[in-house]
Amino acid sequence: MAEKYEELIDKLTEEGDLSDDELLALITMPTGSGEGLFPNTPQAASDPCERLPLSPSFTEAEKALFDAADRVRRREYKTAVYVRGLIEFSSFCRNDCYYCGIRRDNRNLKRYRLSCDQILSCTDQGYDLGYRTFVLQGGEDPYYTDQMICDIVSSIKERHPDCAITLSIGEKERESYQRYFDAGAERYLLRHETADTRHYSLLHPAELSLEHRKKCLFDLKEIGYQVGSGFMVGSLGQTAGCLLEDIRFLQMLMPDMIGIGPYLTHHDTPLRDCCNGSLTMTLRLTSILRLIFPYALIPATTALGTIHPLGREMGMKAGANVVMPNLSPVKVRKQYQLYDNKICTGELSSECRGCMERRTSSSGYQLVIDRGDVKAH
Ligand code: SAH
Repeated sequence: MAEKYEELIDKLTEEGDLSDDELLALITMPTGSGEGLFPNTPQAASDPCERLPLSPSFTEAEKALFDAADRVRRREYKTAVYVRGLIEFSSFCRNDCYYCGIRRDNRNLKRYRLSCDQILSCTDQGYDLGYRTFVLQGGEDPYYTDQMICDIVSSIKERHPDCAITLSIGEKERESYQRYFDAGAERYLLRHETADTRHYSLLHPAELSLEHRKKCLFDLKEIGYQVGSGFMVGSLGQTAGCLLEDIRFLQMLMPDMIGIGPYLTHHDTPLRDCCNGSLTMTLRLTSILRLIFPYALIPATTALGTIHPLGREMGMKAGANVVMPNLSPVKVRKQYQLYDNKICTGELSSECRGCMERRTSSSGYQLVIDRGDVKAH
């Protein structure tokens, strides 16, 4: 049995792909961690929100998968871990995604917006801390006109021409994406969230469509952005078939960055009764993605660090090569609560930098001062 999985891992490592059935077999192989792999499906155990063991143990096949991914990441990127300073500049959002804590209809959230000057003081501080990429993320907040976004981007570029700017502000018109690009933004993060239409409609209200989200991703690519996509692991109704579709969609898009993290419950959303997604499944997919997309920039996400104290370390050892410490002003951090118990909301930016440095080196890698552009692929 275990041999079968090890053969599949070898084949995936050598060929960079597997048949649908083979991928499904890897996605669903037994785990040693004791976790439910699909906590929010009818097939889940009767008490699926079990607590995750502090030191989960993995099967030989799971360890072989993580190790294969780590060898490929070392072949491609050696031990470098790229660092992105994350500035969460607005918690206002016009959308009402069922899983997200900053959704429009959450009336219990105190909202904030950062001014251009506040954002610039974050990037100045980030520059001094050694960041050479800034990620500007927010809800879809119409307060910021295209002109304002362009002004923010060009002001950062003027002060720090050696830095890359990544935007993560949701679905926009193609012309808007073009304007931001012309102003100097060169990367864009927009997770597709799920590539299965039925699953998409379990997570989003009817006015949002998978088709439009995909169109945005292809527009961004055509314009010339380095594009990041990805999905949550373990959200309501996600099956192994959905994950297979996610992988197939990514193979079509060929993104430069791929962000995945466990779905995490937020108490003020319609999905408040769902369980957290699985750490094990997130790690397993991190490794599978590394083997299919050897060149990709794959973060060990904050959600992974939230679900387990060593989640990001495990993510790095399973193939992730990017971390995104928080650079937002401390006084607003708690208000960008996408999910409950989000980590790194009390520390100063300099502390987050030091903490990430320690976590990275203790895992056997090195944080590097570099823009961290994707390799040619
Ligand atoms: N408005 C932007 C940024 C969204 S927040 C956009 O639409 O792209 C960034 C990511 O956080 C989302 O893409 C989603 O995958 C993730 N996220 C949101 N709520 C979450 C939750 N409850 N658990 C885990 N991840 C979540």
